[in-house]
Amino acid sequence: MAERRNNIYFFYKRDEKTSAQVKSLIDLANEHEFNIVNDYRNANIIVSIGGDGAFLQAVRKTGFRDDCLYAGISTHNSLSFYCDFHIDDIDKMIEAITNERVEVRKYPTIQVTIDNSTSFYCLNECSIRSSIIKTFVMDVFIDELHFETFRGDGMIVATPTGSTAYNKSVNGAVVDPLLPCIQVSELASINNNHYRTLGSSFILSGKRKLTLKISPEGNHYPIIGMDNEALSIRHIEKLDISLSDKVIKTVKLKDNSFWQKVKRTFL
Ligand code: NAP
Ligand code: MN
Repeated sequence: MAERRNNIYFFYKRDEKTSAQVKSLIDLANEHEFNIVNDYRNANIIVSIGGDGAFLQAVRKTGFRDDCLYAGISTHNSLSFYCDFHIDDIDKMIEAITNERVEVRKYPTIQVTIDNSTSFYCLNECSIRSSIIKTFVMDVFIDELHFETFRGDGMIVATPTGSTAYNKSVNGAVVDPLLPCIQVSELASINNNHYRTLGSSFILSGKRKLTLKISPEGNHYPIIGMDNEALSIRHIEKLDISLSDKVIKTVKLKDNSFWQKVKRTFL
């Protein structure tokens, strides 16, 4: 029988205002017989306080744990994509934590492998962008097929939940997180008689692998972003990107489906 998840780790910016807000959450958690742990490795519930950016950091800093339930609490004016709770709406939190049979929602993540060695996960997207005022060139492969040679500012490879973030700003489609897939969108590609790219975003099945081979010509390397963090390694030749086996689990609430969030946020 599954034991009750009751070790909570709070992830937040340790400033005065947020610390005060967290204090009341800790009291609430204690009242409901939860343990507050100071080390995320001992947690089975990880709660981020802030916005979507804080949630992305909470997931990254705690190692994309698929044996934990993540929950985002918004301290902004409104709810956001990863924050299903608002800091002022205690009732909703109590309802969720006291409900033994909460439904779990699973968000796909992507796995990026660099030069056949180091790999990392992304919940929103992996972005690759020129770091100087010049274009760079890369060869794009789908599985083993050479698909196109890209020259321009860069590319975004987004998860379904990341489709409403950076990907959307460059006219990518919004994708239902129930579809396990990755979306590839261009950043200002050059299209002429030498360089030709598809031009539109494309969506790959979760079974495919996207490979980006960065051309060393020009001898400057693009910058790689994993959600809201830049990768410190710069001299990269090849990225293999695919859907990962890991999913991020969050609490599924009533009247808060992905499409309700899309409507609430954009329409
Ligand atoms: P940021 O630059 O401070 O915030 C970008 C905005 O995107 C914030 O309003 C953030 O919400 C929101 N956001 C984050 N994830 C989202 C999602 N899945 N769906 C809809 N909106 C989302 O950076 P940040 O707060 O650390 O967030 C990092 C993300 O920003 C990156 O993963 C990337 O997707 C996005 N980004 C977008 C652009 C662009 O659109 N031109 C450029 C760079 C990065 P909160 O205010 O709740 O944090
Ligand atoms: Mn933010």
